[in-house]
Amino acid sequence: MRTPKILFFLLTTALVVAFVVFNFKLLFKKDISNFFPSKPKANIIIICIDSLRSDHLGCYGYNRNTSPNIDEFARENILFENNFSQSPYSLSSHVSMLSSLYPLTHRVLEVESLDLAALNKYRILSEIISKKGFVPSLFAQGGYFTLKPLFVRGFNEVFTIKEPEIFFKKIHHWFLQKSYEKKFVFIYTSILNPPYSYREQAKDLYKDKDFLSREVSSAKKIISRGLNEERFQNLSDKERSLILFYNLIEEYDPKGIAKRPLKQIMPDNWPQLDDYDRQLNCLIDSYDANIRFLDEYLGSFFQMLKASGIWDDSLIIITSSHGQEFREHGGIAYTFELYDTILKTPLLIKLPGSEMQRSSRITQFSESVDIMPTILDIFNIDYKGPVQGVSLLPVIKGQAKKAKKAVMGFYADKRSIRTQYYKYITCNKKDCKESRLYNLLSDPGEDNNLISLDAPVLEGIDCLIYKHIRSTQSKKAK
Ligand SMILES: [Zn+2]
Repeated sequence: MRTPKILFFLLTTALVVAFVVFNFKLLFKKDISNFFPSKPKANIIIICIDSLRSDHLGCYGYNRNTSPNIDEFARENILFENNFSQSPYSLSSHVSMLSSLYPLTHRVLEVESLDLAALNKYRILSEIISKKGFVPSLFAQGGYFTLKPLFVRGFNEVFTIKEPEIFFKKIHHWFLQKSYEKKFVFIYTSILNPPYSYREQAKDLYKDKDFLSREVSSAKKIISRGLNEERFQNLSDKERSLILFYNLIEEYDPKGIAKRPLKQIMPDNWPQLDDYDRQLNCLIDSYDANIRFLDEYLGSFFQMLKASGIWDDSLIIITSSHGQEFREHGGIAYTFELYDTILKTPLLIKLPGSEMQRSSRITQFSESVDIMPTILDIFNIDYKGPVQGVSLLPVIKGQAKKAKKAVMGFYADKRSIRTQYYKYITCNKKDCKESRLYNLLSDPGEDNNLISLDAPVLEGIDCLIYKHIRSTQSKKAK
């Protein structure tokens, strides 16, 4: 019986060919949104952790167990090893993240420089994607989000809750209520901003507990005598260092001190006494313990997303607006400098849909301005407005035609450009006296200023920075 055999063979071949062609087409379709075209549950979740420097996370090589849940997320997804924020100032950095514009373009260059009229020329991510059916909601744990009207733009719902326990409970309940809504959720947490007061939960990260409690009780004694600006200035060096230390690790509000911005009561000349190093180590312990504290909340948030079926179809991005300094260059906590300690931040991306699931570590440069174009690319959303970042999707897929050669930082009139081997910090004044050049290969801590030694390199980098600024300006919205 030959005919049925031939028929069977032909039919099988046809099926195999059809299968291969169909899958082939699917594999080579340009945008991955074809994998999840109209699923209502496709979500975009950005978790922005203020003040998180990447080198204090396990997945970025830190030697302490500060971040088991974030590390697991990193292992299963995509980690950008060389990610940089655009500014040491949170508001500026967030505007760059959500508008894909460098601070030089959106003009939020320093504290109190928010020009809403200028900003109204540009669209931010929440406004763009709400037109594409994503319902944007913002959860903010204090910080600039509660103060500045910008972030209300485009967001349907805005929740500002300071207390971490209530903040994360609210997020849990809200997600469960809205599990079938296609949403864009921006979660901003300030748990890592000083005072680092959530340290009790990670006792194992504390090395010097007795010293800490001694310093705290001595500081409390001084505060109990009453403290105003004048009295603070008249304290002895030892007492002043106690108050500065206490101010960074405890929430308190002595009249006339806590009401002023932290940086004003953090003189660069923090008295360097015998116990200075121990104080500094205690601050780092506290910061690390706060990371661990936050990591536990994130762990249970991830579990909830998995249990409720939201996880798989969601694009989840974990990043930060800027880092912190621990005296590497003189400052503590917030400094408006452009060193790596301040600008090098984590970027972790979980792609939506099991078909796109992949894990890798990417060494190429990425910046906050790249986040918005990446999201638009993943969901195949067309946007004609100005963007200065690039989509990271080709890099993730290993199909990028060229790698980013440099990343930029801005604060007030300071600018920095960082290549793989050099960091150049300058200001846009004529004959800037504060220019600095660091060879990151031999000096990753940015300690030895080479500015007077390396004139030819300097010239090259100077060209690069101005070329970049010019290309940035040409893309301004009209
Ligand atoms: Zn901040």
